[in-house]
Amino acid sequence: MRVVIVGAGMIGACTALALARAGCEVEVLDRLQVGAGTTSRGEGNVLVSDKGPGPELDLALVSRRLWGDLALEIGADALEFEAKGGVVVTPDTASLPALREFADGQAAAGVDARTVDDVHELEPHLAPELDVGIWYPQDAQVQPVLAAHAILRHACALGARYRPGTTVVGALQCGGRLTGVRTDTGDVAADAVVNAAGTWGGAVSESLGAPVPVLPRRGFVLVTEPLPLWVRHKVYTADYVTNVAASTEGLETSCVVESTRGGTILIGASRERVGYDTTMLPSTPARLAAQAVSLFPRLADASLLRVYRGFRPYCPDPLPVIGPDDRMPGLVHACGHEGAGIGLAPATAELVAAHLLGGDVDAAAGGDAAAFLPGRFATDTAKET
Ligand SMILES: Cc1cc2nc3c(=O)[nH]c(=O)nc-3n(C[C@H](O)[C@H](O)[C@H](O)COP(=O)(O)OP(=O)(O)OC[C@H]3O[C@@H](n4cnc5c(N)ncnc54)[C@H](O)[C@@H]3O)c2cc1C
Repeated sequence: MRVVIVGAGMIGACTALALARAGCEVEVLDRLQVGAGTTSRGEGNVLVSDKGPGPELDLALVSRRLWGDLALEIGADALEFEAKGGVVVTPDTASLPALREFADGQAAAGVDARTVDDVHELEPHLAPELDVGIWYPQDAQVQPVLAAHAILRHACALGARYRPGTTVVGALQCGGRLTGVRTDTGDVAADAVVNAAGTWGGAVSESLGAPVPVLPRRGFVLVTEPLPLWVRHKVYTADYVTNVAASTEGLETSCVVESTRGGTILIGASRERVGYDTTMLPSTPARLAAQAVSLFPRLADASLLRVYRGFRPYCPDPLPVIGPDDRMPGLVHACGHEGAGIGLAPATAELVAAHLLGGDVDAAAGGDAAAFLPGRFATDTAKET
């Protein structure tokens, strides 16, 4: 089977590898280059801790296992894969019962979630008033750009082809079926086309004749100067989970703090729906910085190296859209992963492969694959907010 993948972000790279491994003839097209979209704008958390029971958590559990397999296959260093675990704390003892109840629900769904009575044993530099937390040993981290490059290189070693600087502009169709794509450098024929265009998946799907609603959700990330290892896990407060799940348009900030191999500390991330507005407002990074200092008071003396931002691909549900589109046979979507596209990429890739090659889609999704299908959207327009 000849498959064209539109987009060389983390989703496109992992999908190329899954399909090349399965013996497909794969061609990856990107208008820029590998990792140039949102994949280079996030933090690289591979989290199960921030998801409540349901299809996304099921997919995340499969994906976490697959990230471990990729680290063995390609090399943990090539991905900067670190199985460091996550710690969720709350400054507000009144919300502890709710935090524990959430963790109990996750544990029933297969997550390793352990209550810790003194989080300082895990994170000695946390603010003294933060005592109790939940420890999630399965949470992990990758460096998204390095990882996407390494995975796509691996796919190419298995026969996939990669064409950067190629913009998909429309569909090739025959008898109501998609038979390839039109690009700014010529037509590319295919038996199937995978829409892995991330935040631009809405525009690409529209150009291919079957629009899905993917919207941009802006986020800022702060990067400190290299520091000693003050932060050992991914550390965040319980309200992060609420913000991730919320679909409000206004600004939400609840920080996640984590160290990197290079010694820098990443402080992310805000969430707001402002279209593709790239304005750099100091007030949002300032809010994130203040939250990080309330977790780790030592950060008050740290300097920032830089602040960057990106646009998460956000579906209104907000679940990713993964699977064939009945309106346009030959088209399979794999986009709209919001703030979890790095974590969910390997399982998304296996789910796309199962859809295309007649595999067990529920097994690939770790649960209900139908929850991700594009047919769930009531409207068929995908215009931005
Ligand atoms: C601030 C922030 C923090 C984040 N933190 C995390 C995190 O910790 N963990 C996590 O899992 N996720 C995180 N995310 C989300 C994650 O980065 C995304 O979900 C993920 O990168 C999406 O990958 P993708 O491959 O779908 O999209 P992208 O990486 O955007 O790739 C899409 C590609 O499609 C290409 N393209 C677009 N249109 C066309 C066209 N017409 N023709 C050809 N090519 C085209 C683009 O050039 C791009 O390279 C974060 C995002 C942000 C903004």
